[in-house]
Amino acid sequence: MNTADPPGWLSRLRAQQGALAAPARTAADPVNLPMIRRWCAAMGERNPAYLDASSPAARANNGIVAPPAMLEVWTMRGFTPDGSGGVANNLLGIDQMDAAGFTAVVATNLVQEYPRHLRPGDLLTQAVTFAGVSDQKNTALGAGHFLDYHYEFTDQRGGLVGRMRFRILKYRPARGGGATAAAPSKPPHPRPAITPDSAFFWEGLNTRRLLIRQCAKCLHLHHPPGPMCPACHSCEWSALQASGRGTIHSFVIIHQPQLPGFSYPLPVALVDLEEGVRVVSNLLGIGADRVRIGMPVEVEFSEVEPGYVLYAFRERGGT
Ligand SMILES: [Zn+2]
Repeated sequence: MNTADPPGWLSRLRAQQGALAAPARTAADPVNLPMIRRWCAAMGERNPAYLDASSPAARANNGIVAPPAMLEVWTMRGFTPDGSGGVANNLLGIDQMDAAGFTAVVATNLVQEYPRHLRPGDLLTQAVTFAGVSDQKNTALGAGHFLDYHYEFTDQRGGLVGRMRFRILKYRPARGGGATAAAPSKPPHPRPAITPDSAFFWEGLNTRRLLIRQCAKCLHLHHPPGPMCPACHSCEWSALQASGRGTIHSFVIIHQPQLPGFSYPLPVALVDLEEGVRVVSNLLGIGADRVRIGMPVEVEFSEVEPGYVLYAFRERGGT
């Protein structure tokens, strides 16, 4: 691998750059109001441009439009728990990377462009092009290659309505040595997908601070962080250091699936911070038998691996 010439499988994959990465796919349903409403409810999106046809915002667009971030929703396949719907349409390059031993995957970048608003009735088709594979890189996750895909979304008249550039890292896990190796004795803690919007949050953890994005215009606090204030749509913001005190709003006890790096049964809590936002968190010293809604908690930082600090909550006033 250290020679100047790329391995044969990589050269063969590179020869397919520019080819369709999967068969073109047309949405099962046109853009429609029920799915827009459902998505807005799930995302906490209240912009009347998407929800209220009589609102000035919707009238300015000559009717309700879909949230631009729903672009990929319309052509997305349904989820099949037994996997029967997914494997046959793997993107070009995935199987080749698996065969070369780069069996793990993480999405690293996603950039979307919206040439126009989508309206109820638009029927989308997506076409994905394989846009390239990088040389081997050594990352914190392990050695791997970045794969790029370019999506184009067109409407029922063939007009371009969206573009998406999607990058994944296919890698050989740093400890473990691939899918067929024996399980490592101490598996690495899974790493988050860090975006330009969330980078400050993870950098804050490295200095043992819990930072919340605060709008610079209306002072609204929001978490998880996004590119825009959900209250006033300003893109200007600063980071507020949270006190770290809160109460458990709700929790689940995870038994399956069991990911390496955690102990099961695993309580995972939604914590209401006293600043007024809610964060998802692991718990420390609070077993599945003892966790309860309303429990007062406070944050604690721990360096789970060298240079990698995570937060969790333990009982406040407890031991
Ligand atoms: Zn705001």
